[in-house]
Amino acid sequence: MTETASRRTLHITTWGCQMNVYDSGRMADVLRPLGYQQVATQDADMVILNTCHIRERASEKLFSELGRLRALKESRGGAMMIAVAGCVAQAEGAEIIARAPHVDLVVGSQAYYRLPELIAEIEAKRRAVIDTDFPAAQKFDLLPEDQASQGPIAFLAIQEGCDKFCTFCVVPYTRGAEASRPAAAILAEARRLVAGGAREIALLGQNVNAWHGKAPDGSTWNLARLLAELADIDGLARLRYTTSHPRDMDAALIASHRDNPKLMPFLHLPVQSGSDAVLARMNRRHDADLFRRIVGELRAARPDIALSSDFIVGFPGETDADFAATMQLVRETGFALAYSFKYSRRPGTPAADAADQIDEAVKDARLQELQAVLRDQQHGFNRAQVGRSFEVLFTGTGRHPGQSAGRSPYLQPVVVNDADIVPGTLHTVKIVQSNPNSLMASLIQEQIAA
Ligand code: SAM
Ligand code: SF4
Repeated sequence: MTETASRRTLHITTWGCQMNVYDSGRMADVLRPLGYQQVATQDADMVILNTCHIRERASEKLFSELGRLRALKESRGGAMMIAVAGCVAQAEGAEIIARAPHVDLVVGSQAYYRLPELIAEIEAKRRAVIDTDFPAAQKFDLLPEDQASQGPIAFLAIQEGCDKFCTFCVVPYTRGAEASRPAAAILAEARRLVAGGAREIALLGQNVNAWHGKAPDGSTWNLARLLAELADIDGLARLRYTTSHPRDMDAALIASHRDNPKLMPFLHLPVQSGSDAVLARMNRRHDADLFRRIVGELRAARPDIALSSDFIVGFPGETDADFAATMQLVRETGFALAYSFKYSRRPGTPAADAADQIDEAVKDARLQELQAVLRDQQHGFNRAQVGRSFEVLFTGTGRHPGQSAGRSPYLQPVVVNDADIVPGTLHTVKIVQSNPNSLMASLIQEQIAA
């Protein structure tokens, strides 16, 4: 904080993906030099709603929260600034202020590095401001270097936007064209995160494995090379990356899962459907066999790799046979974790206008059938860990007094009945019990050296 900055208070509500969580942290970093400190909503001079446009009813959720905030703002005689950020802000822009005139600022997902100027403009002109421009430069590299610690597990955005244009998805419209940050900026941010206490870094991007960034020597690196360079950072114990696209899983990246000892044996690789006809209409640019081939190569490179994926059921025109192909792919692959959704129409995307929309009841039935199998696979994967020993990165306390909690290499939450474990330390544990969403363990090694 600068010496002249007076104390102001801020609350950021975050919806959506890890990229939004990262963005919210960076917005707080931008505002900290102005004196903004984070507090609960009811105590905040400024409230930012960082929105997500992926799910249905994103705008209804936003306007209902804005209604609640209007009452709070009125009870303070108007002395409160309300900002809407993120993908709904990007998509709806001026519409938001037209429907909710008590909103002071609409800031798109690419413009939040300009928050200090935008706030100054509102204060000077006493009118609402909208900024949904896409800047020419990479927004991440326009942000302050000073970052709050994220704790032992940190996110680092290396890529943003998407050029794939899957026919169901709003991301290319709300996050813009695919862009990769330069390697030097990523390495510098990673070193700062490690200096601030991070032991695990998860690289983020809407299409993270499409990353191809400028190297310090002017050449271009791929993600495998970036992961190798990051693995050289002392004090950093673990690396992950998410979310990947099957088309961009190249041989070098698959080999990293064998060769890079810090890369964790877990990969989130959305496939969406097991039907080639549906994948083609989704414009996924891959078929089910490419996914099968990648899974085979990943398992050959790293036999214990745990796989996660995203699925959409009830995409327009999906037949019973198409859905059966998805079920078949799920059964033969075996997932440790998965996210599955009913197709929902996103205005402005090609599939939203398709004539052959699927009945809600059919979507519901298919989702239940798919989720039952995915749940069994997740529970089976967790049960298979009982009796195994592996390293856990501890992050804090467990839900009950006297417990510490952390993450397994396969991303599961792990809990031990020992309150004295220092967050940020790695310990070898033995798994003694599996629950649907977590594992119980006992400590078998006090602490592993960094
Ligand atoms: N970039 C990733 C990829 O290539 O798959 C994921 C992007 S999106 C933020 C996360 C997930 O939301 C997608 O993988 C998809 O399963 C789901 N999703 C996106 N749009 C959807 C829609 N219109 N209806 C249902 N699910 C959707
Ligand atoms: Fe959306 Fe992912 Fe497809 Fe890009 S690749 S359009 S982010 S689902």
